[in-house]
Amino acid sequence: MDVIVAGDRAELAKARESLGGGSIALVPTMGALHEGHRSLIRLAREHADHVVVSVFVNPLQFGPAEDFSRYPRTFDADLEACAEEGVEIVFAPSAEDMYPPDRQVSISAGGMGTVVEGAFRPGHFDGVLTVVLKLLNLVRPDVAIFGQKDAQQLALIRRMAADLNVPVSIVAAPTFREPDGLALSSRNRYLSAADRATALALSRALRAGAARETPGEILAAARAVLDEAARLDPPLLLDYVVLADPATFAPVAEDHSGEAVLAVAARVGSTRLIDNAVLRLS
Ligand code: AMP
Repeated sequence: MDVIVAGDRAELAKARESLGGGSIALVPTMGALHEGHRSLIRLAREHADHVVVSVFVNPLQFGPAEDFSRYPRTFDADLEACAEEGVEIVFAPSAEDMYPPDRQVSISAGGMGTVVEGAFRPGHFDGVLTVVLKLLNLVRPDVAIFGQKDAQQLALIRRMAADLNVPVSIVAAPTFREPDGLALSSRNRYLSAADRATALALSRALRAGAARETPGEILAAARAVLDEAARLDPPLLLDYVVLADPATFAPVAEDHSGEAVLAVAARVGSTRLIDNAVLRLS
């Protein structure tokens, strides 16, 4: 079956109707699809009869100084990837269709949206949650798939689903990496060869941290790798490295046991990258 492209909310409603019965999994994306997105689509397929992919570069989640206008847009290639993966519906609305000028109400991510990544991107998670709730309301999926790559986003979406009683199961997909460890990202295409070599320090720092036992040692090992990368050409400019509770993103105590997420964000050249690893502390 060919993939149905729904360009606005009305077309989506029609396309959804045409699926008949069966369960639906939604994979929200901003397009510029790569193998990481494809792994989400394959996981979606395991959880439902039909897969809907949304492709929408959400203006609400970009700050005024961020890369909204230069965010990669590769819609034809995205459609081809979705067709290859057997996606039934691609929902690609315009910003005007998603955000009519008279809109007033939006979602607040609360305090959890202002820490770690949220401290560097004010309003970002409010914009993410607002668009995700709208997509969930429009598609009404049984399951929605999100990447562990955006660990704080995943935690906040789980929090939103719980706090607002959103009737959907949230499924996390593992981070898809290049063989050398670099996590796939739509923004990787901006990296020059030299940028990319520096960017490898993110995943290297996570591996160095993961090899240690206590929060203090884990952070020190990760920081040592990132400090070294700050002296490379081009340098890695660190925004943060934290060891946090994966559900709340509060920093973990030195005697913490159980899961903790080692999360890092840094800029290399003009590109900002994030990565994380979930560790089990005993
Ligand atoms: P984006 O298009 O970057 O907003 O991402 C759409 C979805 O794909 C989000 O749930 C991301 O967490 C997920 N994602 C992005 N990169 C990866 C990756 N390398 N591995 C797994 N999931 C990813």
